[in-house]
Amino acid sequence: MIHPALSCMYICTLFNPDLSVSSQLRLVQKCLQDVVGPSPRVLLESFTNWAELISYDRVFVMKPESVEEIQRAVYAAHACRRQVRAVGSSHSSSPLFGDRGHIHLNLSNLALENGKRVILQPLNPDRPVAVVKVAPSVTQAELDRELEVMGYAFPFGPLVSDVTVAGSIATSSHVRHIA
Ligand SMILES: Cc1cc2nc3c(=O)[nH]c(=O)nc-3n(C[C@H](O)[C@H](O)[C@H](O)COP(=O)(O)OP(=O)(O)OC[C@H]3O[C@@H](n4cnc5c(N)ncnc54)[C@H](O)[C@@H]3O)c2cc1C
Repeated sequence: MIHPALSCMYICTLFNPDLSVSSQLRLVQKCLQDVVGPSPRVLLESFTNWAELISYDRVFVMKPESVEEIQRAVYAAHACRRQVRAVGSSHSSSPLFGDRGHIHLNLSNLALENGKRVILQPLNPDRPVAVVKVAPSVTQAELDRELEVMGYAFPFGPLVSDVTVAGSIATSSHVRHIA
């Protein structure tokens, strides 16, 4: 891990930046990037949830491509006193997502072993159901397609096909369907 430069320590901690001031927000962005290193990029973007009920004008966004990049992102967040939130398909209507100055992790570039996104676990005679492992951004639609190829079906899955499996689990939504 890269140790934050003293100037960044000052900006992120002692100085307590005023995030309503664009120039100070950009200073924090630069510090986050300095700590993270070249990848993932630290972007400043607006955020709106699916129903357009929750909008934030500027949040930091990182799109890590590996577990190591997630670790670097979280380390940088800690060093710069920022909070991190994974974001799925943004279908939640509660204010779960961090506002201005928070870091949203977009996990759509993460895959499982050998670049796969859905992996059927070895069948186990002691377990009466098939089990799959999914990448963090796999949606219900993608899971359904992959399962069909494998000869399985998710009989009572959520009707909203573009929610992510991880997002549904995190909010305990569709509880009768996803476990
Ligand atoms: C049109 C519509 C219909 C719906 N119908 C139903 C319904 O019938 N029944 C029901 O129960 N719910 C329903 N919902 C609610 C919806 O299923 C949940 O809000 C669900 O959490 C959305 O998943 P998401 O991928 O959009 O997650 P997001 O809304 O993006 O995120 C939800 C939470 O999950 C966390 N999260 C996301 N991805 C990850 C990850 N990879 N790792 C860790 N945490 C993560 C986020 O930090 C956040 O706290 C509906 C929503 C909509 C918009």
